[in-house]
Amino acid sequence: MTAQELFELLAAETWKRLYLAQKVHMRLGEEGITDYLLLGIKLAPIAGTTLVLLKDKTPKHLEALYGTDWEWWIGNNTSGWIRYAIQAKALKAKHRYAGLAQKVKKGKKQIDVLEAYAAKVGAIPVYCLYNPASVPATKMHWHCCNSSGQFDQLGCSITTTAAVQDAINTRGGRTFDFIHSQTDSIPWRCLVTCANYRGKTTHPLASNKVSKPFWYKKAPSITMRPSFENGEGPDKDFWDSTPGPRRLMITEAPEPSGRAPT
Ligand SMILES: [Zn+2]
Repeated sequence: MTAQELFELLAAETWKRLYLAQKVHMRLGEEGITDYLLLGIKLAPIAGTTLVLLKDKTPKHLEALYGTDWEWWIGNNTSGWIRYAIQAKALKAKHRYAGLAQKVKKGKKQIDVLEAYAAKVGAIPVYCLYNPASVPATKMHWHCCNSSGQFDQLGCSITTTAAVQDAINTRGGRTFDFIHSQTDSIPWRCLVTCANYRGKTTHPLASNKVSKPFWYKKAPSITMRPSFENGEGPDKDFWDSTPGPRRLMITEAPEPSGRAPT
């Protein structure tokens, strides 16, 4: 299975499962969904392509400092890596997202903390949104550059903090419709597979708050152990020198054809 196939499978599954969960009145929160997805990725038979590294969760008291559920590194050692700082939100009743304007420590908004953290470490801050098949998805919510209307891929979508800030500041804006009407909202697999989001100096999802260059030459180096039961981890120096979430996903992916980094 390729990384692309895995992320597509998980998005389609999330799309369906969240819908079925709604039907039986089961409320799934973003934390549980994220756990389930990261476990699925960790156990998937694509070792060496995508790795999920866990060192406990971002502790609750530290989440307030980072605003981040996990980090995702995508790229390869030839072209470089892009680092994303990710906050997850699940769609709730009435096709609305709750908690977008959530306050964390000292009354700061979670979204501001996420942006500040991302700027500090040279990551692109994004939201990962979990959506059920019951959302009224149409053509106007589809912004993938190289396919059309695979709506189940919106089960796991990515959007910018700018789109979320807009949603927060717009009356009635915290909905699937509002956020996915913005061209910044794309299926999560696009970060891995679509040329628009790979190999560009100016990343379409980056805000001007990203202060450091976000093309990293290398991802955190990884010491693989023979089996996942033993765990695997990035080098100790990286963990120790890097504040931030204790969950990293690293997806090694070739450059999409037709475009090289500039
Ligand atoms: Zn795409």
